[in-house]
Amino acid sequence: MSIKNINTSSSQKPDGEQTSKEMHMLEEAKKMQHVFLDNMSHELRTPITVILGYAGILYDEIEDPDLKEMAEIILKSSNRLTESLNLLLDQSEVDPAKLQVEFERKNLNDILFETAKVYRPVAEDKKLELLYTSEMEEMYCNINPKMFDKIMTNILNNAFKYTAKGSIKIELKMINKDSEKFVNIEISDTGIGIHEEKQSLIFEAFRQVSEGMNRLYQGTGLGLSVTKKFVEIMNGQIYVSSQLDCGTTFIIQFPNA
Ligand code: ADP
Repeated sequence: MSIKNINTSSSQKPDGEQTSKEMHMLEEAKKMQHVFLDNMSHELRTPITVILGYAGILYDEIEDPDLKEMAEIILKSSNRLTESLNLLLDQSEVDPAKLQVEFERKNLNDILFETAKVYRPVAEDKKLELLYTSEMEEMYCNINPKMFDKIMTNILNNAFKYTAKGSIKIELKMINKDSEKFVNIEISDTGIGIHEEKQSLIFEAFRQVSEGMNRLYQGTGLGLSVTKKFVEIMNGQIYVSSQLDCGTTFIIQFPNA
């Protein structure tokens, strides 16, 4: 398996040829993109919440099987739309200039134990094995719990999405790097894998490596770009290791606190 270190630097340095006017225009375009994403996300969220609410009521109330199926489809589609919108909103929120992130010292073993519990029914549903192991009882890091939760949700949702049989493992251990301690989280699956050439693309916004697969796998291509940004904001690093048709491992490391 090959391991790719994903360059964590997102700021672009001007290369001598770029004039200050071009840089200014680029900055403006970036700002406009954030404003646009913010507005669109908020504008779309409100009506979708209403649709979801009423579709839920209809699904519960309707007894006719055909109509119930229709309500279920509306419910599922609205849920999918909500997930995509949440990712879009996350993407627009990760402008470091706008971010005021609060960090809390948390035991990742406690958090991941609970996360694994949440995914147990999903694993049962897909007949996949779900394993969680931690080397130690206590593995503390300074994190933003909401962001950490989104990171794990994005990675685990993908692991389940791209794995039809076998297992999904979450492993937590302590490692030393340059004489500093890091908490190392590995999420491995036995799914379709990612072609080596494409592994560096998956962290770019809107990129789907499964692009050529006739949209066999649904998604926005935003999850991993948001994930990478959240990891970096919390002073962490993310790596991918994968082999086509064998499986994928995402490795996330945060400084031990
Ligand atoms: P998407 O919404 O398409 O899942 P992501 O940003 O979450 O977008 O992921 C980008 C791409 O990376 C996916 O389209 C898929 O091709 C690939 N990918 C991510 N996780 C996995 C995985 N566990 N196994 C195989 N491919 C994956």
